[in-house]
Amino acid sequence: MAGYDYDLFVIGVGSGGVRAARMSAAYGARVATAEDRYMGGTCVNVGCIPKKLFVYASHFSEDYVDAQAYGWGPARPDFDWPRLLANKDREIERLNGIYRGLLDNAGVTHYEGRARIIDAHHVCVNEQTISTDKILIATGAWPSVPDFPGKEHVITSNEAFHLESLPQRVLVVGGGYIGVEFAGIYHGLGVESHLSYRGSLFLRGFDHDIRESVRDELTRRGIHLHFNSHVASVTRASDGSLTVDFEDGSELHTDVVLYATGRAPHVQDIGIENVAVQCRENGAIIVDEEYRTSVDNIFALGDVTDRLQLTPVAIAEAMAFASTQFRGERQIMDYQNVATAVFCQPNIGTVGLTEQEARAQYDVEVYRSRFRGLKNTLTGSAEQTMMKMIVDRASDRVLGVHMVGPEAGEIIQGMAVAIKSGATKAVFDATVGIHPTSAEEFVTMREPVAS
Ligand code: NDP
Repeated sequence: MAGYDYDLFVIGVGSGGVRAARMSAAYGARVATAEDRYMGGTCVNVGCIPKKLFVYASHFSEDYVDAQAYGWGPARPDFDWPRLLANKDREIERLNGIYRGLLDNAGVTHYEGRARIIDAHHVCVNEQTISTDKILIATGAWPSVPDFPGKEHVITSNEAFHLESLPQRVLVVGGGYIGVEFAGIYHGLGVESHLSYRGSLFLRGFDHDIRESVRDELTRRGIHLHFNSHVASVTRASDGSLTVDFEDGSELHTDVVLYATGRAPHVQDIGIENVAVQCRENGAIIVDEEYRTSVDNIFALGDVTDRLQLTPVAIAEAMAFASTQFRGERQIMDYQNVATAVFCQPNIGTVGLTEQEARAQYDVEVYRSRFRGLKNTLTGSAEQTMMKMIVDRASDRVLGVHMVGPEAGEIIQGMAVAIKSGATKAVFDATVGIHPTSAEEFVTMREPVAS
């Protein structure tokens, strides 16, 4: 290995790449990284972090109203979009610096520039050829927009974080994570918010009760949901506004069309064609359980492999990779029961099997609770919280826990520990609740719903 410049060359410094680089270096490897965009990848720059900040921003409109029921005088919210952007950018800059510091402190050499693979042991960055024993591709994913007339007029989540002014009307296309999150963000900021989804009910893959609860909550808030809706074309008028024509003949006038129709593995222009790395049809790099590609010394992890496109998953994969390759301790990632949250308003939090998945494999009991949270008893808000638990009748093991409600992301993280450790319903029942919280409902649900 001494014959190479580095033991490991990591392409892409997003969540997975940075963690893999610094852990590998901590285990003694000589590591280099390359990146031609931003430090910290999608999550830090145009994903989880700015998105969550926007969610906080948008929720204040509701908080201002609710506060009056608690004795506060009527506030006149004066929302300043440029101020939010500036504050958000300052925080991201700080995080960029932290990520950079993590690499520097770990002794990783960082190259600013696009890295292209030349062959299995060489990469080229800024016209410099560098040799390496192993290569790790951690280039993430990129928003994918289908082809249709007027595609050039739409934006993706990448641009949504940098709009010069806050639009008055937005159409979000797509009914997945980003679609429901941004529809809520815009609505909370006072924007007329529409969401178009091609099927009859969005959030495919989530528990059906979650999908219905979110539909009801978004509708109740005033977000315009268009299901079985297919965009035919988008045209821009001379005043800059957009007209969206749908296949059913209807049209919508709006200022921004945001496409959130999935993210495709980012494998363009990294020289992947120079090595025999095999990809799936959508470009996702095929890897084994050690993240090894079809080329023995080339590895890939995170969104570019299109397994679970989640930051904590990429980080866990990176930890396993570094340990296996450079610590001499083989670690295989367990993809079972990965908890996830969607930061629509109210949040979705979920871990384990949906009722539909569980019924296909087990004889199950389902516990479900719908209620109005304590806070809303004074505000009069009709917001409903939905909590649900799926239990295997034979073993009493809890197979899945799902929630739609305020802070569901925070609550489900704790539930995920219980599910991961194989907790039974009896364990939940024996757990004393924390009163008064919404979370206590998970340990007080006694009567299964009729199957
Ligand atoms: P998703 O895969 O979550 O959702 C894509 C949506 O677009 C689906 O509703 C899908 O419909 C629809 N769609 C796909 N192709 C088309 C098309 N050609 N025409 C019309 N509609 C289409 O992708 P997102 O872009 O929302 O997010 C990407 C990923 O990023 C997520 O899957 C998630 O893993 C990650 N993410 C995680 C977040 C979190 O943890 N909170 C937040 C944001 C993103 P259908 O269901 O019918 O296929």
